[in-house]
Amino acid sequence: MPQTPSATNPPSLKDRQRTELIVIHCSATRATMDVGVQEITQWHIQRGFDTLGYHYVIRRNGELQNGRRESAIGAHVRGHNANSIGICLVGGVDDNNRPENNFSNPQFATLTELVRQLKQRYPTARILGHRDLSPDKNGDGKITSNEFTKACPSFDVTAWLEQQDLAPQVASTT
Ligand SMILES: [Zn+2]
Repeated sequence: MPQTPSATNPPSLKDRQRTELIVIHCSATRATMDVGVQEITQWHIQRGFDTLGYHYVIRRNGELQNGRRESAIGAHVRGHNANSIGICLVGGVDDNNRPENNFSNPQFATLTELVRQLKQRYPTARILGHRDLSPDKNGDGKITSNEFTKACPSFDVTAWLEQQDLAPQVASTT
């Protein structure tokens, strides 16, 4: 893995000890906004991060871009950065900045392929959306929409994984 210092790989980045979660995000930008690693890196540096918080960015046209190196601790989800990989789909809000699943087919195709590869490298990691890490306020063991602190990534990752046949295999008891 390249370790050459760059805008997305500053010397301050440290490597994770474990990878238990693969977290899917959106950039919360409109479908017409064609941004990528370069712009998001600038936004996150302005917010005080060392570089962009994500490990991967998927542009509107489906292009996969590398963010932080995959082994580094990210900055994309409070409380879970030390054990997770962050993927950002560009898009996710409508013209009024409300959550909207407006991702393109090429974006979903790239996400499918990336998740497939990450599952091979981290077979025990759970794959979920940022909003699924919201606190379980009523303690029923499920994170429901009324408990979401964020809408990110503006779609139901669990349902999507099932459609892609990427959902965890449940051992059959019969
Ligand atoms: Zn997010």
